[in-house]
Amino acid sequence: MPRSTVARIDLDALRHNYRLACNRAGSAHAMAVVKADGYGHGITQVALALAEEVPRYAVACLEEALAIREAGLRQPVVMLQGVHAEEDLDVCRQHGFEPVLHGHHQLGWLNPTGGHPDFWLKVNSGMNRLGFLPDELIDVMAALKAKGARSGLQGFMTHFACADDVDSPMTARQTLCFEQATAPWPELLRSVGNSAAHFIPGQPLFDWSRPGVMLYGGSPLLDKTGPQLGLKPVMSLEAPLITTRTVHAGESVGYGANWVADRDTRMGMVAIGYGDGYPRHAGTNTPAAVKGQRIRLIGRVSMDMLAVDLSNAPDAKEGDPVELWGREVGVDEVATCAGTISYELLTGITARVPREYR
Ligand SMILES: *Cc1c(COP(=O)(O)O)cnc(C)c1O
Repeated sequence: MPRSTVARIDLDALRHNYRLACNRAGSAHAMAVVKADGYGHGITQVALALAEEVPRYAVACLEEALAIREAGLRQPVVMLQGVHAEEDLDVCRQHGFEPVLHGHHQLGWLNPTGGHPDFWLKVNSGMNRLGFLPDELIDVMAALKAKGARSGLQGFMTHFACADDVDSPMTARQTLCFEQATAPWPELLRSVGNSAAHFIPGQPLFDWSRPGVMLYGGSPLLDKTGPQLGLKPVMSLEAPLITTRTVHAGESVGYGANWVADRDTRMGMVAIGYGDGYPRHAGTNTPAAVKGQRIRLIGRVSMDMLAVDLSNAPDAKEGDPVELWGREVGVDEVATCAGTISYELLTGITARVPREYR
C-alpha cells in the first residue's frame, strides 16, 4: 500500500481566488499565471479548472505553454521569459503562444516574411532583470517598423520589484516610468501587476494583470496571510503519523540531536520530509495540525520524515493524517517559519507526492 502522503488540491478554491483577482483587477483583464507546474499544483488540472473563465494564460517557458495545448485549451498563452532560440518563434506561431521579447537578439529573430507569432515587449522600469530601457523604446519601435516586424506586437509589459510591500514608493515610480515610456502607442496593450499589485490601493493595472501566487491562496504581501486577503488555500499537504512514543526529559529527537525534551513528551513521526519538498529549514515550533488541533514540529526535518510534539493532541494515533499546511495551518505561516515565501514551498513539492483533485 502506498503511504498516504498527499497534496489535496481544491479546484473550487482556485476558481474563487481567480474571481477575486478579476474583481480586484477592475477594468483590467487577468491572465492566469500557471508557470512552474501551476505553482506545484499541476499545470494541466489548474489550466483546465480555469478554462471557462480565463481569456489568456501566462507561463515562463515553451514546455509549459505546450502543456496547455496538450490539455486541449485554445486560449493565447503568454511566455513571460520569451524564447531561448530562433526556432522557438515558429513553434509559438504554430500554437498561438505570445512570447515576451526582452532583448535585441530576440528582435533579430523576428521574421516578417515568413511570419512570426504575436508577441509582447518587456520594458525595464526598474526591476533590472529583463527588458528594454524606457529611453530605448522609441528606437526599438522604429526598428521593428523599418523591418516590417511590428505586426503581431500586442503590447508592453513590465514587472514590479517591490509590490509585496504596499508602502514601497518603488511601485509608483515604476508605474509612472512605464506609463510615460509607453504613452506614444496608446493603441497597444499594457500589462503590469503580479498578485501583490492587486492589493495596493489605487494601483493602476492597465489592460492586463498577471496574478500568480494568489490563485493558489498564497499571500503575495509581506505582512499578510492569504486568508487575511480573502484568499482560500488551494493545496492541503497531508501525511500520516507513522509512530507515536514518549521521549523522556533529557532525550533528544532526530539528526544533530538539537531538540532535547525538557519534560516527558508524547511525540509522533510523520511520513514527509525534504525529499517531498517540505522545507528542511522549518525548525522546532513550526506549526502543523492533527485532528483539528495545532501541534508543532520538533527537531530537524529529515528526508522522509519529521517529528511532531503531540502534547496538544493526546488522541492522535498511528495512521491519523497530519496537515502540514492547508486550512488549519496556512502555507504562509510555514513559509515564515522556514525563512521563505509560500511560492517556494508550493513550487517545491516534489513528484513523490501525489496530487489529488477535488
Ligand atoms: C511569475 C510572474 C508573475 C506572477 O507573480 P505572482 O507574484 O506569483 O503573482 C507575473 N508576472 C511575471 C513577469 C512573472 O514572472
